[in-house]
Amino acid sequence: MNAANRYWSALTASLTPYVPGEQPKVDGLVKLNTNENPYPPSPRALAAIAEAAQKLALYPDPESTELRQAVAERHGLGVEHVFAGNGSDEVLGFAFLALLKHDLPLLFPDISYSFYPVYCGLFDIAFETIALRDDFALDLADYARPNGGIVFPNPNAPTGRALPLADIEALLQRNRDSVVLVDEAYVDFGAESAAPLVRKYPNLLVTQTLSKSRSLAGLRVGFAIGDPGLIEGLRRVKDSFNSYPVDRLAAAGAAAAMRDEAYFAQTRDAVVATREQLVADLAARGFTSLPSAANFIFTTHATQSAEALLAALRERKVLVRRFSAPRVANWLRITIGSPEQCAALLAALDDILG
Ligand code: PMP
Repeated sequence: MNAANRYWSALTASLTPYVPGEQPKVDGLVKLNTNENPYPPSPRALAAIAEAAQKLALYPDPESTELRQAVAERHGLGVEHVFAGNGSDEVLGFAFLALLKHDLPLLFPDISYSFYPVYCGLFDIAFETIALRDDFALDLADYARPNGGIVFPNPNAPTGRALPLADIEALLQRNRDSVVLVDEAYVDFGAESAAPLVRKYPNLLVTQTLSKSRSLAGLRVGFAIGDPGLIEGLRRVKDSFNSYPVDRLAAAGAAAAMRDEAYFAQTRDAVVATREQLVADLAARGFTSLPSAANFIFTTHATQSAEALLAALRERKVLVRRFSAPRVANWLRITIGSPEQCAALLAALDDILG
């Protein structure tokens, strides 16, 4: 889509939408480009979805109470601390509009989730990016400046680097007048959640998703955890837009997945073990990877350009992701697949590298 359509609003014409990673229409590709989980969802989630399907003639609970209850129980909080939405992307969108749109600029890292500037464009939010350190570490000391809000992923994307909880708490202690949003899409794979701090800091909002560690990217469920005042702000925006963003199947499947702790732990441990093996296998082939606390690794090769590697892997039916920001243009983000998928990646690399 190039030329503006004459019926578009000025805002629509001004947008630069987010571009998600490719979802190929052909089978047989080794898909390591969008951080999906290689394992299927919990069988309990699938059973709950089948049961909920019986009632699809009826609207779902607009408050997603059962799902929020399951999330609250897992985090030792009350249902009033939880908001549920149609993927954490939607929850983030509501949070940007409800809590992060102020006169002072929103702060986020220069290398981070590329949806953040897109929401700022849609909602007309002023923002400033703060450069990661040379080693791509996020230093929250750099965020001590006037702001209308602060948002960052932990672990960060696409670097995979995690921050210790103590650093986040130190930020919360000196930043009391605006919301701090910690996007924990990947937290289950090796970082410490800030969720336990929400009782202490009424300006902390934590978002998580069932797309990664719960193998439910196709169901589209995410949630936010925070002080009831923040949650009420999100609900005001939701109910001014769509009263039923979480459908019956999604609410039932997500609640059952949140309650299946054993399956969650088993699949998460498998992904983490595969990640550690893959980092070593890539190192043996000339790659340097950042320390990852996520279900992906960010890696660069000593002699081969990331762009050439991406194309050569694509020719061999392996999809990985590269971002165009100059600082990271020579890096690849590789999702941790099953051991078989990682073996296929390594075989393709051996073929390419000779
Ligand atoms: N935050 C980050 C950092 C992400 O990488 C993603 C996945 N693209 C999301 C949030 C959103 O995930 P979902 O909408 O599937 O919950």
